Amino acid sequence: MRYISTRGGVAPVTFSKAVMMGLATDGGLLLPEKIPAVDNATLNKWSKLSFANLAKEVIGLFVEPRDIAKADLDTIIENSFASFNHPDVTPVVKVGNRYVLELFHGPTLAFKDVALQFLGNLFEHILAKQGGQLNIIGATSGDTGSAAIYGVRGRKGIQIFILHPNGRVSPIQERQMTTVLDDNVHNIAIKGTFDDGQAIVKQLFNDLDFKNKYQLGAVNSINWARILAQIVYYFYAWGQVNKGTNKTVTFSVPTGNFGDIFAGYMAHRMGLPIENLILATNRNDILSRFFNTGTYRAGTVAPTISPSMDIQISSNFERYLYYLLDEDSAKLKSLMEQLDSDGGFSVTEDVLAKTKPLFLAKAVSEEETSAAIKAVFKQDNYILDPHSAVGVCAANGRSDVICLATAHPAKFGQAVEDATGRTPDVPAVLQGVMDSPTRCMLLPATFEAVRDCMQKVLG
Ligand SMILES: *Cc1c(COP(=O)(O)O)cnc(C)c1O
Repeated sequence: MRYISTRGGVAPVTFSKAVMMGLATDGGLLLPEKIPAVDNATLNKWSKLSFANLAKEVIGLFVEPRDIAKADLDTIIENSFASFNHPDVTPVVKVGNRYVLELFHGPTLAFKDVALQFLGNLFEHILAKQGGQLNIIGATSGDTGSAAIYGVRGRKGIQIFILHPNGRVSPIQERQMTTVLDDNVHNIAIKGTFDDGQAIVKQLFNDLDFKNKYQLGAVNSINWARILAQIVYYFYAWGQVNKGTNKTVTFSVPTGNFGDIFAGYMAHRMGLPIENLILATNRNDILSRFFNTGTYRAGTVAPTISPSMDIQISSNFERYLYYLLDEDSAKLKSLMEQLDSDGGFSVTEDVLAKTKPLFLAKAVSEEETSAAIKAVFKQDNYILDPHSAVGVCAANGRSDVICLATAHPAKFGQAVEDATGRTPDVPAVLQGVMDSPTRCMLLPATFEAVRDCMQKVLG
């Protein structure tokens, strides 16, 4: 399996190369040359596997053994999910008339651990083989930062710089990042929004002299390995719910950067029987507006109780758009240029029609989010975090929808308490985080400030 860019300007590269490249060198995003197909017999066989063994099968389809030997890849996968504190890694539980796919049993209690534990192990393996250093730069709306830091803390040959919007992540999220004092971890609070941070990261990657001099690596979901790891739990949840039958299922996915739901789209393209992917946004609704109107145009970012989805420009959306435009890189490029120059673009009715019937999209208000947390607690005695509640609300009471629970409620204790009157129990891994010493730099939200800071640290 080789990887190409959505914008058509990269000669096919191996999986390892794609992982190290992060953002494609032509400014696009990397995708597999072909989407592997999985037949029903294989699906049934897979439905009996443990999460880690299923991950070996799914991920194995996207990595050539002469790139990473099968035995090495299997070890990387086993180590990556051994750090989860649930035997099923991503258990599926029945809550009322729906299923909840719990993705928050990793070290930082958010779904991003699924991909970032894997990515940390991959980086280490690839660096050990090829030598050299990797300097990771990422922007976080809250959860990616700590999950990425936990993925690479203390690892040899890796430095990590994480930008977070100053004062716009929850206190626990902030401390989960800034209390990690390993020498290779550098937290930067920027005086701006997540979108500012993401734009700075993109600019650093597009400065090819800087990127090559410092071997920049990406941990945002622009990195293909993150999407790949997330594809696994769609297959896993399907198997858990179906127990050997071949039923079609519907997933509801709270989304911001279109990463998680894009993994679901890939699973669908591979042959997983998915009826609908319900795209659930908070009031930062650029994605739900696109799926309902065909126009993609950023508004201003409004802070919400689901801060990890306070995003207006969804970097992964480009991957989906590429498929929606029938893999026409030229057309895609012109739309992305229009986005840069005019702040938005529209697709034709015909193109929009192709998003149906798979995608349904809904923007969920703050009141609806709180009401969903409250209702599920009262009726089903289950505590949702606000992100997961956005997905549950968008599923709109429909039976048997698999709702992705993307964070542990204790990470967003205040919002949960406001909705239910109860403070969620704090798991052991979070205890102590609030009073441990921290380290963080505060910088203006500019490309120059961040670049100069990195140059100073790296010498
Ligand atoms: C990152 C995040 C999301 C959004 O995921 P995307 O891949 O950006 O769509 C949702 N919920 C939580 C808790 C997150 O951390």
